[in-house]
Amino acid sequence: GRPTTDDLPEPHVAHNYSPLPVTAATAEGAWITDVGGRRHLDCLGAYSAVNFGHRHPRIVAAALDQLARVTLTSRAFRSDRLEPFCAALASLCGKDMVLPMNTGAEAVESGIKVARKWGYDVKGVPDGRATIVVAGGNFHGRTTTIVSFSDDPAAYTGFGPYTPGFVRVPFGDLAALDAVIDENTVAVLLEPVQGEAGVIVPPDDYLPGARALCNERTALLIVDEIQSGLGRTGRTFAVEHWGVEPDVYLLGKALGGGLLPVSAVVADRSVLGVLHPGEHGSTFGGNPLAAAVGHTVVDMLAEGTWQRRAAALGERLHERLRDFVGDGVVAVRGLGLWAGIDLDPALGTGKDFCRQLSERGVLAKDTHGSTLRLAPPLVITESEIDWAMERFALTLRDR
Ligand code: PLP
Repeated sequence: GRPTTDDLPEPHVAHNYSPLPVTAATAEGAWITDVGGRRHLDCLGAYSAVNFGHRHPRIVAAALDQLARVTLTSRAFRSDRLEPFCAALASLCGKDMVLPMNTGAEAVESGIKVARKWGYDVKGVPDGRATIVVAGGNFHGRTTTIVSFSDDPAAYTGFGPYTPGFVRVPFGDLAALDAVIDENTVAVLLEPVQGEAGVIVPPDDYLPGARALCNERTALLIVDEIQSGLGRTGRTFAVEHWGVEPDVYLLGKALGGGLLPVSAVVADRSVLGVLHPGEHGSTFGGNPLAAAVGHTVVDMLAEGTWQRRAAALGERLHERLRDFVGDGVVAVRGLGLWAGIDLDPALGTGKDFCRQLSERGVLAKDTHGSTLRLAPPLVITESEIDWAMERFALTLRDR
């Protein structure tokens, strides 16, 4: 007969995902143990939200300490955690101010609002005419405004009407960017390395060129470092690979230490200062628990060891991955401990590959057909990378 919802593994969970058949019960460091007691090496790291590993003891200790003090006040009152967190994060970014939010999409939404307000108040764009330039293949989150400028039909179809005010040009194409930035452009919004698109690294002249165009035409350069930032690429921020300083950083994911959602918009006072009381807000944004956790993450990154570790382990990972090119793998890309792997489409879908890889104890995620991405927690060891690559080789061999 017709399957009832009770036949599904999670009948009460909305089906906006199709998870691998692995049910986590506990996790520590780079490893997830399922409900049957089997251990899996986590090579996805919750899309870079678990950069420091599952339940990093220093982050857990900070959270426990704060749980015993105060966790939520709303921004109607001050907490003794928020200003120190914002000062530390601003300093990590070389900026003046932080607007604390929760999820990545909220940071992006907030960045868009700030850019528009800056456009009207500072640049002098006529009211209602502000445009923001975005890149083809972008992924910035799932809100109605953000999906309005996505070119992925799965992301936008059925969710209109769409928010106007965005102009999309191909990623990595400076001439295309040059052609669209005009007097009403308030910002160029880019992922320095596109994550969901398959870990796409732009040509070396792209981000410096975008920086120069924004300077020349008085537009803000906003970088979405939600997935690329906070150690993943071997630097604190991916833009450092090209020596580029944006006007606005959008941060999230790893800022919450793998414990809770913490995101932020970070910029100078000349930009974030356009927001006045009552013009923007969030009940949970900057709550004391989030601030305690986020501050710990910033302190850990300020030491520089995580970035160096990601760079060194990333070399190992990419060296091993390059060996597969021509042998079931068409191309490998990435920076630091972050890789996009194009499988030979003849070998089947990325989804099937991930399922088989998970049966061998390695968790990864497909994106767009036959591309795989790896973003293991930065606590992974060299021998664990080697082990994962052996499992990868076995999975390729069986196809
Ligand atoms: N921006 C980028 C670059 C992302 O990769 C993501 C999430 O994958 C987001 C924004 C959205 O973050 P969240 O899922 O926390 O809303």
